[in-house]
Amino acid sequence: MTRLSEKLHLLHIIIKISQFSLSTLNLLKALTFKTLTFIPSSIMGEDFFSFHNSNTDDSSIFDLDYDNTRSSAAAASSSASGFFSSTLYRGWFSNDDDDNDFDKLYLVPYRWWSEVETVGEQVGVLYNVISNFGGDDAEIVLDFRKEEGSERSEDTEEGFSGREYAIISGRMWLQALKRHNDSKGVMKVVSGSFIAEDYSQDVFPLQIRLSVSRETNSLVVKISSKDNLVSSYRRACNIFAPKSKLLHIWDFSGQTTQFLIDDKINLPNDTLGEQGKEITLELQAYGFSDSMTVRDENFDEMVEMETSFESGSVKMNGCTDHVRSYSSLRNSQSGSGFRVFGYLGLRGLQNLGNTCFMNSAIQCLAHTPKLVDYFLGDYGKEINQENLLGTKGELALAFGDLLSKLWTPRDTPVAPAIFKRKLADFAPQFSGYNQHDSQEFLSFLLDGLHEDLNRVKSKPYIAIKDAEGRLDEVVAEEYWRNHLARNDSIIVDLCQGQYQSTLVCPACNKKSVTFDPFMYLSLPLPSTTMRTMTLTVLSTDGMNLPTPITVTVPKCGRQKDLIEALSIACSLRNDEMLMVVEIYKNRIFRRLTEPSDSVALIRDEDKLVAYRLLKDNRNSPMVVFMHERVERPCEFERAIPNLKLFGIPFVARLENLYTGFDLHKQYLKLLSPLLMPADDALNDYDDVGITTNEDSTMEDVVCPTISDSNTGSDTGTEDDQCSSSDFQFYLKDGMRSTEIKMNEPLPVPKFSDNLEVYVTWSESMIEKYDTCLLSSLPEVLKPQLYARRPQESVSLYKCLEAFLKEEPLGPEDMWDCPSCKKPRQARKKLDLWRLPEILVVHLKRFSYSRYIRNKLETYVDFPIDDFDLSTYTSKKDSQFSNHYVLYAISNHHGGMGCGHYDAFIDLGYRKWYEFDDSRVSPVSEDDIKTSAAYVLFYRRVA
Ligand SMILES: [Zn+2]
Repeated sequence: MTRLSEKLHLLHIIIKISQFSLSTLNLLKALTFKTLTFIPSSIMGEDFFSFHNSNTDDSSIFDLDYDNTRSSAAAASSSASGFFSSTLYRGWFSNDDDDNDFDKLYLVPYRWWSEVETVGEQVGVLYNVISNFGGDDAEIVLDFRKEEGSERSEDTEEGFSGREYAIISGRMWLQALKRHNDSKGVMKVVSGSFIAEDYSQDVFPLQIRLSVSRETNSLVVKISSKDNLVSSYRRACNIFAPKSKLLHIWDFSGQTTQFLIDDKINLPNDTLGEQGKEITLELQAYGFSDSMTVRDENFDEMVEMETSFESGSVKMNGCTDHVRSYSSLRNSQSGSGFRVFGYLGLRGLQNLGNTCFMNSAIQCLAHTPKLVDYFLGDYGKEINQENLLGTKGELALAFGDLLSKLWTPRDTPVAPAIFKRKLADFAPQFSGYNQHDSQEFLSFLLDGLHEDLNRVKSKPYIAIKDAEGRLDEVVAEEYWRNHLARNDSIIVDLCQGQYQSTLVCPACNKKSVTFDPFMYLSLPLPSTTMRTMTLTVLSTDGMNLPTPITVTVPKCGRQKDLIEALSIACSLRNDEMLMVVEIYKNRIFRRLTEPSDSVALIRDEDKLVAYRLLKDNRNSPMVVFMHERVERPCEFERAIPNLKLFGIPFVARLENLYTGFDLHKQYLKLLSPLLMPADDALNDYDDVGITTNEDSTMEDVVCPTISDSNTGSDTGTEDDQCSSSDFQFYLKDGMRSTEIKMNEPLPVPKFSDNLEVYVTWSESMIEKYDTCLLSSLPEVLKPQLYARRPQESVSLYKCLEAFLKEEPLGPEDMWDCPSCKKPRQARKKLDLWRLPEILVVHLKRFSYSRYIRNKLETYVDFPIDDFDLSTYTSKKDSQFSNHYVLYAISNHHGGMGCGHYDAFIDLGYRKWYEFDDSRVSPVSEDDIKTSAAYVLFYRRVA
């Protein structure tokens, strides 16, 4: 408070403020209340500040401060001190964040303002201003006298004399600036040049002292060289033309009416009516310095025009510069007489720590036509305070504030800290500084803005009526009306469209049509290329070695496509089937059991095995043999030897396996292809064992194995004897491990369809079999170091077609058919029905599943000039065009989680810029199509 008190020079009652607005006046008023105990009330009464009460109609004009609801509350009760303290707090702290031009007043040439101001939108008050140049004391004194009946009439030629100015609010100024900028864009493209000049020297602050003259019922403005920079004062001299006697100044800001109401000075006699009571305020003068620069170019034109302004209150001597510039303006139509200040909307956003996802999306929205105009305009009146789904306007206000900062001509980046805080209040997942998905952010933000700005104050309950054979047009219109009855905001106006969604029951052909709204299209990326995948095929009959087989499948295909391709490649017999599993650390890690799963869920570095199984015994429990061997940690240590798994597990059906001996025999059979060729001449059984396939020969295979493994004396007479020395079998059931005895029946657990058997190999067996054959397991795709895979390309239209394609619903989201009264896997078809003005297209690059998060780097070939949706809309008689142009792209570079976002944005007229956090730089249109494109922003063209 002491800091604030110091601002008030109460003895002189010169209240020096830098921002003069309703909120500032409230602030002053608050201060007045706060300090009343110290000052005699005769010096500072309440009346001076009570002008709100008598002028509530103008509150929309006063709406410079976004907190207009509080302002009107103040108007209603002038002594609500709770309100004032909150205003005080906010007003003071908002300055900490960033520069805010919205509470400032701007003085601009009337003509400049009127060129872009919507006719009849603003009501101005006209003052005749007599200027007196003090000369020696270096002070300009301006006497503002309100013109009688000065409500603005539209047919007069006001403002064209060049001696007329307008006082406008910061918001109005910014809107005008943007509109001038937009129209300059056209001009610049035509002329083929692009000049960015320093606009900042064109805005200069002018400290003026304001007082009210009781004698003349007028405002007295003093501009002193003491208060101002020399350059500012000189320019002020130029503007207010000290030798001239009369100027016209229109006040569109509504501020001066606060001093003069009904032509009476609204001040108590004993207070500010006294001489010497002044308020210092800062006025931003804009649009004057250029008048010098254009003069030479258009001199001929101006001389021609000059004569027509000889009449009226204009004094030509001493102020001809201005007259010339304005008259030249009048000729050139486009406003070229005013300074070219470069393109607006080129301010970057600071990265607050992984906030590039947010910055990228904000910049896209901040350059969305109509949305910008909306948020630069008087949107405060649309804030929905009651909506519980929103933030009572806080998010919308923070966004609007951010947007206006982005459109204020400055070259410093904006720190979106307050906005981020408000966003986190609404959607807590965005608090903190983690990387997020820009599309997810966008969707939350649009939702939040919609709720904050929803014009519907209480949402009616509407029962959905059945289509009952009515025309699509009628039903769709009804859906849309119902939607608008509950949801009506700028976001709906601009961004929402309507799908036609048709469900057909596969059993009874019952058809159901709905027309639901959408805010963006989320398109899948269909693949045009194939994916090469290598799997190891393993027979379960002991006939073949493990064989790697390479197949190609559509990259976005399903697992059934993979199995089909494999079946052909390995000549699968009709009585066989494939069981595909992923092997991890010599175990079966998972079985690929869902044929409709995408192959994208299989990573290139995975190791897959396909077991050939007989269809016949598919209901028998399965035995999975895992091989383990003794591995001594260190030769010299007498530590307990470790058992370590190796090789690809074997699989067999439990059919005809009753005892440990059966299991043993089966295992040997599966192993037989791996038997090393014996260099022992005595043994010629090996070859026979491998090549024959009759059951009778299996014994032959077994016997030599046994005989070799033994010491040689008792050759293979008893199976029990030999088994103990070659392999040992253990049944694993949870944590328990039971040795399987050869003569005993298998201890099969009840209800088990999967037996895990660990087979421990003896040293001699490891020598006997070629375990390398079992252990070399290729990856699905070997990393290719020599060449990058060719980039695949898919057109945006193909993505859209994939999205709209008729598909059966997944088993997890069955449709309850109202006709059969049963859940059905209905066929679903989407069509576009109503297209929004702003079409946001999200490319589904990220896939999430139980196991894997994946990003597709597919290059999507998207149209820039003409995205034609005519053939994709089911509504035929639309009054709107189905043609769109691209104006913004949110890009994601790099992999999942660690990537970076930026944006490409068309500033109008095909001038593209890259917005990379705080860095903004031009980019050629040829370079904007990349595989990083993630969210595309299109606008409709007429
Ligand atoms: Zn049905």
